[in-house]
Amino acid sequence: MEWDYDVIIVGGGGAGLAAALMAHQQGARCMVIEADGRLGGATAQSGGVFYACGTSVQRAAGIADDTPDDLYDYLMTLNRWKLRPDLIRYYADHCGPALEWLIELGSEFPKEWLVKSGVDSVARGHSSQGAGSGIADALINAAGAKGIDTALGTRVEALLFEDGRVVGVRALGTELRAPVVVVTTGGFGNNPEMLQRLYPSSWHEGWTWAVHKDVPFVQGDGITLAEQVGAGVVGHDTGLVLPTSGFSRSLEAFLPPWIIAVNKEGRRFMSELSPYSVCGYLLNEQTERRAWAIFDEKALVEASTNTKYLDPYNAGISIPTWEEPTLRAQVKTGRVKVADSLQALAAQVGIDGLALEETVARYNADCDAGGDFQFFKQAPAYFPIRQGPYYAVEIRSAIIGLTAAGLDIDKQARVLDVHQRPIPGLYAAGEVLGCFHGERYGGGGLSIGNAVVFGRLAGIEAGRAALALRAQDEVVA
Ligand SMILES: Cc1cc2nc3c(=O)[nH]c(=O)nc-3n(C[C@H](O)[C@H](O)[C@H](O)COP(=O)(O)OP(=O)(O)OC[C@H]3O[C@@H](n4cnc5c(N)ncnc54)[C@H](O)[C@@H]3O)c2cc1C
Repeated sequence: MEWDYDVIIVGGGGAGLAAALMAHQQGARCMVIEADGRLGGATAQSGGVFYACGTSVQRAAGIADDTPDDLYDYLMTLNRWKLRPDLIRYYADHCGPALEWLIELGSEFPKEWLVKSGVDSVARGHSSQGAGSGIADALINAAGAKGIDTALGTRVEALLFEDGRVVGVRALGTELRAPVVVVTTGGFGNNPEMLQRLYPSSWHEGWTWAVHKDVPFVQGDGITLAEQVGAGVVGHDTGLVLPTSGFSRSLEAFLPPWIIAVNKEGRRFMSELSPYSVCGYLLNEQTERRAWAIFDEKALVEASTNTKYLDPYNAGISIPTWEEPTLRAQVKTGRVKVADSLQALAAQVGIDGLALEETVARYNADCDAGGDFQFFKQAPAYFPIRQGPYYAVEIRSAIIGLTAAGLDIDKQARVLDVHQRPIPGLYAAGEVLGCFHGERYGGGGLSIGNAVVFGRLAGIEAGRAALALRAQDEVVA
């Protein structure tokens, strides 16, 4: 059979570029097809944190004893063993080598920037110099240096499927044939219909948006394309959601330390500074999937304008939502409620007023004693809530950090059909997968890690499979 390429990769983000490089290394002739006008996808726009263990960066930072077994146990335990052990094992064993590979390609991960990015006890979040573009550029440059073909501005519309196998793609009305196709189209955060179908708990009408908003083709195309040739979809209703006041579409990865978050029952339910890998889920699990940030006039005047409180992690992040001018402006629009008493405030937003008074009294007593002895919030300073007027801001977990429903693969990155059988000629990796993350996000860096680790696996396996088919064709010829 006549092929245009050995391997076609659909989507030129982190997973696609990693797959192309590894398939090329096997000797395969590769083509990366990218819908956008530039390569990089969400990977290039991301914060550039990569979750890995046993790395040279950790060792340079004095962490000598972090092992794949430890990482495996952490991820499995966090998700109550409801993860795919084979894929988590593969990730644990290969995330370190994948990070070293990125370093060889030119990415830099300063040891000073290692962070504890999940709820584990070891710093595994490797922050890239130049954020996401520090990783994407290394991959793009390597692909360029190897002479891997790329087509930009080319959105794949369909997979070619003949005699029970995938044999290429159709894009811009043109067919391109290859015995192996790797789908690496990323997530579906920008697709409201797919969010409601595959990630319904993230959907808050009028509120929900994705951090992928500047990556226009993060639309779940790979899921649709593969479903059309029989692929199964797994990981229903998983991903990462982050809390927001809904005032604007600016990223609010955490809540300010000077508020308390209370639910409809008038109770606190978490440390307001809990890590972003758990905060959004906790909020989403409250009655009516919402809560209220409560604070008083003193906090509004003294804390909301002080960068010490706006950026508790010294991450250089400004969150305009929680600054005094924004909050005062939102009082006028009615989004921020204000009242002279806690009871009146509770009545306005429909929460239990007596319980709110109790919650605030307890919190104030803790603040006076210099801490938070209920949820152990480690705030730079504690602001009791006792000087009216009092304020309430509704918060919801409505910012999509990543989507984790999608395609199912086996240990060779082959896409599985609804009966768990590999679809011949079809591979996948990255955020398009639904079989890697579980109910709880393991920590910052696990998505880029997923893209690069499984992108590399898909590339190796796709390259090998394509070359084996080429050899067979040559024998027949
Ligand atoms: C602002 C932001 C910050 C983030 N920070 C982090 C972080 O610090 N650490 C972390 O681990 N994760 C982070 N993430 C998530 C992480 O970036 C992604 O999960 C990961 O990069 C996905 O990689 P991918 O290769 O699967 O997809 P992408 O990098 O999104 O690449 C997919 C590519 O496929 C293309 N495409 C889609 N459909 C088609 C089609 N039909 N035809 C052709 N091409 C198509 C897209 O245009 C895109 O270029 C962040 C995401 C964002 C947006």
